[in-house]
Amino acid sequence: MSETIRVAVVGVGGRMGQALVRAIDAQPDMRLTGAVDRDGAPVLGQDAGVLAGLGPLGVIIDADPLSVFANCDAVLDFTAPAATLAYAELAAQARIVHVIGTTGLTDDDEEKIAAAARHARIVKSGNMSLGVNLLAGLVHRAAASLGPEFDLEIVEMHHRHKVDAPSGTALLLGQAAAAGRGVDLDEKSVRVRDGHTGPREEGSIGFATLRGGSVVGDHTVILAGEGERIELTHRAQDRTVFANGAVRAALWGIDKKPGLYSMADVLGLT
Ligand code: NAD
Repeated sequence: MSETIRVAVVGVGGRMGQALVRAIDAQPDMRLTGAVDRDGAPVLGQDAGVLAGLGPLGVIIDADPLSVFANCDAVLDFTAPAATLAYAELAAQARIVHVIGTTGLTDDDEEKIAAAARHARIVKSGNMSLGVNLLAGLVHRAAASLGPEFDLEIVEMHHRHKVDAPSGTALLLGQAAAAGRGVDLDEKSVRVRDGHTGPREEGSIGFATLRGGSVVGDHTVILAGEGERIELTHRAQDRTVFANGAVRAALWGIDKKPGLYSMADVLGLT
């Protein structure tokens, strides 16, 4: 029988945190051994299983990650950029796998994560679902085949509570498109349009953001040419797809060397 993998969840009181607890519980070869949320969070002291709607698991939510990280093999982190940077250092010291789903990281944050990954096993993706990672492959191919005379626009919609824009997934799809065209996304992206913008610049990659209701995550990549248009769409109906991806990433990372890996690596799509 294989050994049980001990997993901790940080940001356990959040929408994703609770979905992660349920996904871990559904895995026969994994066990939740720690649950962390920020100082002052209303969920501190509660049983993580009860909070996630499973009944008691005997794992009490704590604000101190140190003892939790010392007693697990992997940590699943869907929190906020500042928290994720701090956890990356602690996970590297504890030599555990750090699965990062947090979005909204700046370029500076990304550099710090890459530095931590020199000593740590980090799997990081703006979207942990199989469908979106497959879509990224299709977008890469479409962008490479069609060229800049097809205008590329990425439209996303998420629930009203989301705090960053464009979504990590929209940026991931933008990166795939830019890579397909052999250009740098930072140089080509248009994140906002307002007022007298002038005509669209050829080769740019546009983003549009919608927020509302309880939408888990919709993304459409549009390639608009003269007289025809292609639209590639993914709709997430349930956070379970992201949580299951994160669990899969943790299992995959257990026997890997230090490095910064993506969900495409986990899914064998690279
Ligand atoms: P949420 O606001 O419901 O939950 C965030 C949780 O993190 C909360 O419990 C909060 O208290 C906690 N937190 C914040 N700062 C903390 C700190 N310093 N220490 C410990 N805990 C802290 O948000 P959510 O909808 O669950 O999303 C969380 C993140 O995951 C966002 O960045 C979101 O974009 C991202 N996300 C990624 C994917 C993916 O597949 N990569 C999918 C869904 C959401």
